[in-house]
Amino acid sequence: MRRLLTVAVILLVVLAAAGWLAREQLGEILFARAVQATYGTDATAGLDDGLHVILCGTGSPLPDPDRSGPCALVIAGKQVFLVDAGSGAGRRIGQIGVPLAKVDATFLTHFHSDHIDGLGEVLMLRWAASGRTVPMPVYGPEGVDKVVSGFDTAYTADYGYRIAHHGADIMPRSGAGAQAFTIPTRDGAQTVYERGGVKVQAFGVRHDPVEPALGYRFDYKGRSVVISGDTAPTAVVARICNGCDLLVHEVLNPDMVGKISATARQRGDSRIAKIMSDIPGYHSAPVAVASIARQGKARMLVFTHIVPRMPTRLLHPFFLKGVADVYTGETVMGEDGMQFSLPARSTRIERADLL
Ligand SMILES: [Zn+2]
Ligand SMILES: [Zn+2]
Repeated sequence: MRRLLTVAVILLVVLAAAGWLAREQLGEILFARAVQATYGTDATAGLDDGLHVILCGTGSPLPDPDRSGPCALVIAGKQVFLVDAGSGAGRRIGQIGVPLAKVDATFLTHFHSDHIDGLGEVLMLRWAASGRTVPMPVYGPEGVDKVVSGFDTAYTADYGYRIAHHGADIMPRSGAGAQAFTIPTRDGAQTVYERGGVKVQAFGVRHDPVEPALGYRFDYKGRSVVISGDTAPTAVVARICNGCDLLVHEVLNPDMVGKISATARQRGDSRIAKIMSDIPGYHSAPVAVASIARQGKARMLVFTHIVPRMPTRLLHPFFLKGVADVYTGETVMGEDGMQFSLPARSTRIERADLL
């Protein structure tokens, strides 16, 4: 028995030593396999015909290692749309496995920095990956042309470097950056995109002093998704939803933010205390959103743009206190990588986690 044990130990030591000596070759083999397995990954490839939402950023301006800035992918049939491009959006989309080359258009809700600060990265990665000869259409409220031309100015030098390095046939200059499409300020909902059975409507929300600020509704083959954008509670969202399948709504817990504000005040940090006491006024508390979901007869409510940052899910019950008393449908705390699938002409809502 002892001899057997000795032999086993010697064998283990020999194997470990062989592994150590061959570590470079092992690494090479593993890397080559990983490239084979992951190259060309496309999370949209196997999707059924229908409307799908993938959350690519559920955070806010507050730094959060688990949540990228505001970002949602909406896939309708073969078309792919992006709603907002917050910080880290492009990298998160890559991590989820949706090729940026596939994004047909971007819709911006408003121009708070956290909703646009990932746009440059998204545009650059899409251009590099696609070789498209036309820029990304970017729809947004009045002022979208300034945002687009600002990014264009910032990236002009890099456009030149990339073309010089790879050649204009690989990275055609005409495909760099974005083309702005301004959505005029109007009361009520307006159709801003209609193609291939997909209808996108924009509607004004309440995010004072940010004016205008928009939400969007997507319809495709009998299924519907409403994305609130940043807003204080407003009946407009309930009216637009009107029995929608999925309501993706921003949320801020004022009790939690109040505690941050009080702590800042105690520590003599009156600037942060002031900022923290200002922000609940133009966002929506969980119970207020639940009430909108109920009024709007949403079939499922998904929270996004979650403020404040919560380092653990154990805090979710406190965050969601009172929500279930108001809205009896399913409520989901959105996380980066969550996918919600609404197959065409059905009532099913299927969920998957892509991260
Ligand atoms: Zn925001
Ligand atoms: Zn905002």
